[in-house]
Amino acid sequence: MLTAITKMGNRICLGLDYQKDTLLNLRCKEEFFCPVCGESVLLKLGDQRIFHFAHKQGGVCRDFFENESIYHMEGKRQLYQWLLKQKIPSVLEYYDKEIQQRPDIMFQFNGRKYALEYQCSTISESIFIKRTNSYLQNGYIPIWILSSSQIHFKRKNCVSLSNFQYLFLRTTSSGKLFIPSYCPEIHQFQIVESIIPFSIKNAFAHHSLYQIKNIGLNDLLEPQINHPIDFSSWNREIDKIKLNWTIHPSRQHKSFLNEIYNSHLNLFLLPPEIGLPVPHTLYFQTSPLIWQLYFYLDIISSKNPNDFITLEDINFFLKKRIARKEIMYRTLPQLERSNPVVAILEYLFQLEQLGIITRKRETTYQLKRKIIIPKSNREIEEAKVLFYQKYQPILSI
Ligand SMILES: [Zn+2]
Repeated sequence: MLTAITKMGNRICLGLDYQKDTLLNLRCKEEFFCPVCGESVLLKLGDQRIFHFAHKQGGVCRDFFENESIYHMEGKRQLYQWLLKQKIPSVLEYYDKEIQQRPDIMFQFNGRKYALEYQCSTISESIFIKRTNSYLQNGYIPIWILSSSQIHFKRKNCVSLSNFQYLFLRTTSSGKLFIPSYCPEIHQFQIVESIIPFSIKNAFAHHSLYQIKNIGLNDLLEPQINHPIDFSSWNREIDKIKLNWTIHPSRQHKSFLNEIYNSHLNLFLLPPEIGLPVPHTLYFQTSPLIWQLYFYLDIISSKNPNDFITLEDINFFLKKRIARKEIMYRTLPQLERSNPVVAILEYLFQLEQLGIITRKRETTYQLKRKIIIPKSNREIEEAKVLFYQKYQPILSI
């Protein structure tokens, strides 16, 4: 940890730039205590490691603080100095006695109180949610920043994200979603945005890199985001997962494949209208290929032109598939409102652009024409070519 209290009650914060000589001097004269548990702590001034305090004995605090890596301590020190340079009132390792939580940095910005957590190790989802809710209930805006070392782009614009990493997802005031991360070794923020998952782990995404000295807090809270997806790459990935699921189906994929089979469909002959990228599909853990196929089976396939699709139909469909765990929501604790119906409405909007449905009222749609199911490889290839030529500009998001 980077803060301690002296016998006289003064706070020593190693987040500020102290000279080693000054600290050596101070260490001869002073005793230091942990601001949380009050135990005596040692001031460590090695050449290799960042200057820090360490508990002499075990105790409750020890597990909490002493597993901190240099990477983590260095990261929060840099973020703290970054905020101070912007004249933002900030406290490093602020301990809130009431809620017994200690964000890495507490700061005040535009009249609001923020709790910044720079997270380098994996913690359980339940602890993450508990801390986040406790901040929200006590007037803090939580801001979780992931260490960049945890983010792996598999290819350009293709990232692998775990459920834990999705917990870091936050929103701009205009509703754009992104994951902020930071690397102290190269002094760089990495903002992962325009995230559109195509499978439970893998997503199309864009990332923007910013040197810490070049951006302000507002750029981190409200990053500029607008990267439309490349449809031919999307199509390629969807084809790849179809093949993967056939070769190595998980339990969830097996029930999906069975349902396709029982409906006399063929996975490889599904029309391109099933498996479209919609911006809020990340509200679901389930791949858009799967939930859109279920949507087709439950809602669209039985309808004839001029039949209606209502919000009630949609809610009933979701409830049924969620109860059977065939569609699953994603846990996104930092988003105060994340209604998965939004993703379905976005899908309906795309079907409307494609001339398959028309919107009659706020939440009522009417089927205009049936979705054509290709019957051979040749038909699907022709359908795809036509689809992408004709509709790519319409579906740009
Ligand atoms: Zn302590």
